[in-house]
Amino acid sequence: MSIEIPDHIKHLYEDKNHPIVKIPNPVLRQATTPITDFSDSLQEFIDHMIYWSYHGPGIGIAAPQLGRSLKIIVVDPEYGKPEVFINPQILEEKEHIQIEEGCLSIPGIFGMVKRSRIITIEALDRYGKIIQKTYSGLGSIVFQHEIDHLNGILFIDKAIPGTLYAQDPNIKDQQNNAREENDIHSEASLSKPQEEWDT
Ligand SMILES: [Zn+2]
Repeated sequence: MSIEIPDHIKHLYEDKNHPIVKIPNPVLRQATTPITDFSDSLQEFIDHMIYWSYHGPGIGIAAPQLGRSLKIIVVDPEYGKPEVFINPQILEEKEHIQIEEGCLSIPGIFGMVKRSRIITIEALDRYGKIIQKTYSGLGSIVFQHEIDHLNGILFIDKAIPGTLYAQDPNIKDQQNNAREENDIHSEASLSKPQEEWDT
């Protein structure tokens, strides 16, 4: 799905000093390649991803968002405790919920997406060691958002019809901060889901 960016948020797409790739850059729609070589240059790129996930600012990032078609994601739901997953897969998912999402590659656009609340994943860590983990709550949502990026899928493709809207995140932040401190913004999650998180 492609969307028309409204004039009042177009400036968010024109920041040439920000390395995060925005729509309609085709890299966001390309298939990604599995990682087989855990070299020093890969480690440098992973550090670059962690930096831009945090400073995006966001709570996760996928390699295509920094212009590389590689199967690497960073999941950082606690905003500062990044976890890196290489060649990630979802083994099992349960309990559907709806949550409002946004994306560093689609700044200023938000909408409701159906996700699974609990997922079991398998991946490699940044050094190639196998990881299995069950995620619930926000970590699960971020993981699903990021793994979609590795398949060229954006949250706007999955948004529940009629829920997408545009708002300058700087203005939205001010409103959110007035309501609740430490609100999360930009990547993956913007508002509380329609049930309480247990994590
Ligand atoms: Zn995203």
